[in-house]
Amino acid sequence: MPEHQSVSPSKVAVVGAGSVGATIAYACLLRGVAKQIALFDVNRAKVDAEVLDLNHGLQFVPAATLEGSDDVEICRGAHVVVITAGAKQKPGQSRMDLATANVAICRSLLPKLQAVAPDALLLLVTNPVDVITYVTLKLTGLPPARVLGSGTVLDSSRFRFLIASRLKVAVQNVHAYIAGEHGDSEVPLWSSASVANIPLDEWSVAGHGKLTERDRTEIFLDVKNAAAQVISGKGATNYAIGLATAKILEALLRDENRVLPVSSLLSGYRGIDDVCLSVPCVVNRSGVGSQLPIPMSPEEEAGVRASADTIRKAVRSLGF
Ligand code: NAD
Repeated sequence: MPEHQSVSPSKVAVVGAGSVGATIAYACLLRGVAKQIALFDVNRAKVDAEVLDLNHGLQFVPAATLEGSDDVEICRGAHVVVITAGAKQKPGQSRMDLATANVAICRSLLPKLQAVAPDALLLLVTNPVDVITYVTLKLTGLPPARVLGSGTVLDSSRFRFLIASRLKVAVQNVHAYIAGEHGDSEVPLWSSASVANIPLDEWSVAGHGKLTERDRTEIFLDVKNAAAQVISGKGATNYAIGLATAKILEALLRDENRVLPVSSLLSGYRGIDDVCLSVPCVVNRSGVGSQLPIPMSPEEEAGVRASADTIRKAVRSLGF
């Protein structure tokens, strides 16, 4: 049976049935990520409509059930709760501009979610995701392994796509990470990037070119500006984050030990403490496992430290 046909006998609750939440539910259905999917949103008309539309396609996906409500009870017993509720960027806004509004939503949501799904892993997608992940840890008192953010899984995927396009190789053969904040201070880890085990620094192949400094600058700028570019054209980003989140959920629910650059609490990682940001981590049924000591150049390491400072400053300014 193909991998996507073996549906995990689990329940995923998605909080927020907006562009991102509904697309995560769709991606989960397509990939058979969980047997039960629940959508919760305070907007009753929106959640009802999304559930109807998704249910009308159930015949065409691996067997699963999907239900939704404006009552948090719908999340009861979930193994993973994915939080997408909250304000999104308007053109010209940064993710950090959303912090105050979205922290307030977390304050009201988290006790209700903990009451109905006390054993759940919490996967944060709401932006600014590193700030929201840290705040969620503090508000819930959960062990750090059980609270993670989608982090730079999406940014790293954008990064790989752009490298793959320039070098004319399949994106699956590119290994490269964006570390740090899911936002303006993020850091491309060029020094460890590789294609088919060939370090990117050594890649020079007839017909596939090599990356110049200018290419690198352009690629990273495109990664950083990707969300703004998509939002200016269609008002939201949803497909790639939907697929990225479904992948993280698979790693959690299928106990995959998959390496993903999720956002998690760092304690003594390269001397960085008390902040949530992304480095490649082993993700399994227990949540976030080992944070891997990926090689970094001195400039990359300094960049990740600066990113940690940026996130910590934002968190402190919110009173955490
Ligand atoms: P959206 O406006 O389409 O949807 C947000 C939904 O949240 C709305 O339906 C709203 O009714 C609901 N909501 C608000 N308060 C709620 C509450 N207290 N309880 C339940 N539901 C509530 O926005 P979107 O485009 O889906 O984006 C959602 C969030 O995801 C934003 O913060 C956005 O910036 C973020 N996002 C993160 C990433 C990432 O990589 N981490 C990528 C894309 C978007």
